[in-house]
Amino acid sequence: MAESAADFYARVVAQVGEGRLPAPPVTEWPTFPWEVEDGAIVAKRLAPPGPEESRRGTGGVDCGLCDERGAVGTIWRDDVWRVKPLPTRHGLPLTLMLETHEHLDFTDLDEHQAAQVGVLTVRLARIVESLPNIARCHVGRWGEGTEHCHVWFFGRTEGLLQTRGSFAIEWDEILPPGPEDLWRADLAEVARKLVTHGGEVLV
Ligand SMILES: [Zn+2]
Repeated sequence: MAESAADFYARVVAQVGEGRLPAPPVTEWPTFPWEVEDGAIVAKRLAPPGPEESRRGTGGVDCGLCDERGAVGTIWRDDVWRVKPLPTRHGLPLTLMLETHEHLDFTDLDEHQAAQVGVLTVRLARIVESLPNIARCHVGRWGEGTEHCHVWFFGRTEGLLQTRGSFAIEWDEILPPGPEDLWRADLAEVARKLVTHGGEVLV
């Protein structure tokens, strides 16, 4: 299953030696909060406020999660929800999305669906943290880029203490992905455990 921290570390060292991994694109994002000034890392100056930008798929128009593309890669589903990995792997061993089939904003969920989010979130986090070599599963709901309801789950490698907390998201962009066969085995294990509570496995 998931690669051990020692194996992961050895692979990165073999790749870069005393050097550094390349900086990820996130450093170019307008929301990236740091810059270098006179050789020191400093916080960027706060930009003046502006109008909110519309999110992808607003109102269900041209929503990439509503059409058949949205379900690609699904490992588990029931009549309301699906779980799938991101199509592109990065440094964290497992990143999953919990999404509705129907076009709903997170805040559109009714009381029953909201309760389902709670149960599925705890269940999924428990399953991810039960995988060998994954210490923690972080959960995030931002919804800044896409309106369609989606919740993030980030598995963090056990023993890679530098990647703890919210910086795990940054390290996910920096570190190279692990072996694909281990990733697929983890996905199958997550789906197998989820289906013991219902739904169907698609992996
Ligand atoms: Zn949608």
